[in-house]
Amino acid sequence: KNLKKYYPITGGVFGKEVGVVKAVDDVSFTVKKGETFGLVGESGCGKSTTGRSLLRLIEPTSGEVVFDGTDVIGLQGEALRKMRRNMQIVFQDPFASLNPRHNIGKILEEPLLVHGIGSSSERKQRVRELLEVVGLSGYHATRYPHQFSGGQRQRIGIARALMLNPKLIVADEPVSALDVSIQSQVLNLMQDLQRDLGLTYLFIAHDLSVVRHISDRVGVMYLGRLVELTRSEELYRNPLHPYTRSLLSAVPSPDPDAVRERIILQGDVPSPANPPTGCTFHTRCPHVTDECQQVRPEFRDVGGGHFVACHLYNA
Ligand code: SF4
Ligand code: MG
Repeated sequence: KNLKKYYPITGGVFGKEVGVVKAVDDVSFTVKKGETFGLVGESGCGKSTTGRSLLRLIEPTSGEVVFDGTDVIGLQGEALRKMRRNMQIVFQDPFASLNPRHNIGKILEEPLLVHGIGSSSERKQRVRELLEVVGLSGYHATRYPHQFSGGQRQRIGIARALMLNPKLIVADEPVSALDVSIQSQVLNLMQDLQRDLGLTYLFIAHDLSVVRHISDRVGVMYLGRLVELTRSEELYRNPLHPYTRSLLSAVPSPDPDAVRERIILQGDVPSPANPPTGCTFHTRCPHVTDECQQVRPEFRDVGGGHFVACHLYNA
């Protein structure tokens, strides 16, 4: 709720604060139990910062993160540790996130050790179980990360996230580093696990085509703000925000009869240290008006839980 993450920019010999980067700027959304919520946007739009703030891997500047009725932001010590068991993360680059000097058994056992769970033999049993759950084998526990392919390493990353029986998994671009042929295998695995274990996903991606089939609802971010949020089918069938439309126009349509005009945006994403006034998308929007340059559009429900921040849809 109203999540913000601002980074100060310092300059000069005294390191004085000369500005601020609004990486996440007043973002609110709800992820429902058992659903997959896709969070989409170009790199630097604040989607990873949002995901990490939920887990408090990054401390937000302000706002609330309410998980099962508890505000996670206020938690300290043991209460925070307990809460963290429920919320785990899968990283984009499984290689960078697995310690190359540790074998897989040790990597997977670590979360159990940190939380003081089980005896040594129970932990080893749990490691073997989880390796099988993600489609590997118990004997893989003695191998090292470099002995696995990218897809296998992401399976290990997923197994690690599951070790503590979490309820929510933040998956931060879990397939973007993988070959296209491997992506769907990992996505299928994640969907099977969701069904079997009752997991809830916040699925972060830069590409709308990846989240299309896996997400129940999708939020689109631009320069630290949510610009559109709705059910997945609705977003693909009836995108409202000009930014969403341009993103979708770049995605090949599964329907050969659909004539989709390719919308090419002007210019680059502006610097988050110096975002445009009014609607932050106005420097690139084909529908920009004077109002857009001055007034920030409210993020509001235009019907049936379809939210958009754009003056085109003012009543
Ligand atoms: Fe474009 Fe204006 Fe809508 Fe922003 S508010 S997306 S500039 S039409
Ligand atoms: Mg990122």
